[in-house]
Amino acid sequence: MMLQGKTALITGAGRGIGAAIAEEFQSHGAQLILHYNRSIGEIDTFVKQGAIAIQADLSTLEGCNTLIQGIDGQLDVLVNNAGMTRDMLLLQMTESDWRLPLSLNLDACFRLCQAASVKMLQQRSGAIINITSTSGIAPNRGQANYAASKAGVAAMTRSLAQELGKRGIRCNCVAPGFIETDMTNAMNDIAKKEALRRIPMKRIGQAKEVAKVVRFLASDDASYVTGQEWVVDGGLLSC
Ligand code: NAP
Repeated sequence: MMLQGKTALITGAGRGIGAAIAEEFQSHGAQLILHYNRSIGEIDTFVKQGAIAIQADLSTLEGCNTLIQGIDGQLDVLVNNAGMTRDMLLLQMTESDWRLPLSLNLDACFRLCQAASVKMLQQRSGAIINITSTSGIAPNRGQANYAASKAGVAAMTRSLAQELGKRGIRCNCVAPGFIETDMTNAMNDIAKKEALRRIPMKRIGQAKEVAKVVRFLASDDASYVTGQEWVVDGGLLSC
């Protein structure tokens, strides 16, 4: 029960990696505030077990404000997980194709870090975990928008770690490689085969394997860890 007594907000908790983080946190005793946009499915199960659920489209300022206003009382852990891709080669990429992943992946992350840190500064403790991507470190073609958003989150997190460290707030990133969710299920077979070829562990990762690392970083066991990007990729970036 590494998270007993802690209240955690997880964005994009209705499916994929976010749902796995919610499950992992719940099994370690955390009180959950779960954000979702369109996937209410998994959220219902958590609400029946005491979680609070808030719906918001985080790609807009209004949506971010709705979520921020819905957070009441103590907040010990923030996990910025909600994210999207909009893969496209540079010459096909419109202004809105460029902007949308940045709005959700980077702008919403900034807004929620800012709002959470106000509460955490009063408490003089807290842990922020931002979900980035190996694409932000070693970008793939067709992902200029996504890669820029994730690299931006990683740089922002290191900056926040410096600002907030002396007040007891730790800020880290977790960068998954290829993890089995709707996001990677949308890839075609050739792209999946190529990904597998490049992964030393020769398998796609599971969402719960990311969730366990997030749970560690959220817990007091990681009390001297801040400003880091933890890669969970079966060795992909080591090649
Ligand atoms: P996913 O299955 O596609 O889920 C995406 C999540 O983001 C959903 O919970 C979704 O909420 C939420 N979301 C999408 N648009 C939103 C919006 N406009 N407002 C609010 N929430 C929105 O993806 P995933 O694989 O679990 O990815 C989770 C995180 O891990 C993302 O940040 C992603 O970039 C990162 N990541 C994933 C992989 C991978 O291989 N899967 C690799 C590297 C990084 P609703 O369903 O409720 O709309």
